Amino acid sequence: MPSVISTDVLIVGAGVAGLWLNARLRRQGFSTVLVESASLGGGQSVKSQGIIHGGAKYALHGALTGASEAIADMPRRWREALAGNGELDLSGVRLLSEAHYLWSPGTIAGNLTSFFASKAVRGRVDQVKGDQLPPALQDKRFKGKVYRLAELVIDVPSLIQRLADLAGDGLLAGQKIEPLLEGGVLVGLKVDEREIRAQRIVLSAGGGTAALLEALGLTQPAMQRRPLHMIIAKGPSLKPLYAHCLGGGTKPRITVTTHPAADGQWVWYLGGDIAETEGVNREPAEQIATAQKELGQLLPWIDLSTARWATLRVDRAEPLQSGLTRPDNAFVAEEGRLLVGWPTKLALAPDFADRVIASLDRDGIQPGPITALPPLPRPPMAIPAWEQLLP
Ligand SMILES: Cc1cc2nc3c(=O)[nH]c(=O)nc-3n(C[C@H](O)[C@H](O)[C@H](O)COP(=O)(O)OP(=O)(O)OC[C@H]3O[C@@H](n4cnc5c(N)ncnc54)[C@H](O)[C@@H]3O)c2cc1C
Repeated sequence: MPSVISTDVLIVGAGVAGLWLNARLRRQGFSTVLVESASLGGGQSVKSQGIIHGGAKYALHGALTGASEAIADMPRRWREALAGNGELDLSGVRLLSEAHYLWSPGTIAGNLTSFFASKAVRGRVDQVKGDQLPPALQDKRFKGKVYRLAELVIDVPSLIQRLADLAGDGLLAGQKIEPLLEGGVLVGLKVDEREIRAQRIVLSAGGGTAALLEALGLTQPAMQRRPLHMIIAKGPSLKPLYAHCLGGGTKPRITVTTHPAADGQWVWYLGGDIAETEGVNREPAEQIATAQKELGQLLPWIDLSTARWATLRVDRAEPLQSGLTRPDNAFVAEEGRLLVGWPTKLALAPDFADRVIASLDRDGIQPGPITALPPLPRPPMAIPAWEQLLP
């Protein structure tokens, strides 16, 4: 029989939300165990585009909510952490781009009026030209306007690696999760038959949270999935580009981020409107053809003839929203010792941790005595999608 463990906070799900929270709690002196059933960061986190949004994209809708004002602080918090002087020491995590760009290909600047009037972008957006343009847009045939947003783009695999290092001995590879009850009250979880007692239990299992709640006999909080059909291109002629390309509507027509592959080539990862509803309904070959056509029109000077292509289907997992509003705030619900939530964005992982820590503070939860953990089976690191699909 594996040994019984007692810890202050037991976290289930080691994506960015669980890993960030775990590192924050450990820094405050709490003991933690973080359980992962597959690979570290391998759910949505390593499949994300790594943009640390500051809310600019949401300002495109014209009206800003209070929630998007909260997101405005995220780039600063991440920047401090990356510099080693923030709430976590993330020095060593690779920054892919100091800025994300907004690129309007034609003469649709009219759509940007409300954008520039909004509080989230005022004073934080500069137009760039000439050699300040992102390398992929530096061509005499380029027409249109480009604005630099104060948003970072990070290399998510190196972030996950750093957060895993900060987790010390507290990571546990575990598959079967059952409630551990005492007098009908949840006091911990049984993970592969091992009893783990905790003052608080946090479910941050992304798309796996609904099934975990069901295993615990709960139906709330309800979750929604938003399917995406992302496109990946890899080739020797690709140059770095981190930009939302605007179409006629309020959503970016295409969002391009560029990632380093293990063999030194660049990978373009394409999301935005192209990966949403219509893109989800396309077969992979059709989705690739659509992306090739779009890029051929937008960036005809980039030679895509030697690029290799793949697509990736992945769901975003979020709390169920009413109407069509997009969640742009971390979400945490509480019931007894259980806290359940979704950051809703990689960028909002700090906000997710804040909400859990605020709940512990409010309930007077203090770090208990730290006892050494027995050696635990450690979950593997996630492998980026392009290394698997386009090795
Ligand atoms: C294509 C795409 C692009 C995105 N781009 C961005 C972006 O540029 N910027 C941004 O801010 N956000 C972006 N997002 C959103 C962001 O990726 C997510 O909001 C964030 O990664 C969610 O983190 P998480 O830790 O909650 O979930 P996940 O990363 O999904 O992690 C959940 C973990 O829980 C584990 N798990 C599941 N079930 C169990 C179980 N029963 N027991 C144990 N473990 C379990 C999973 O294996 C997984 O490792 C993007 C999302 C997608 C899909």
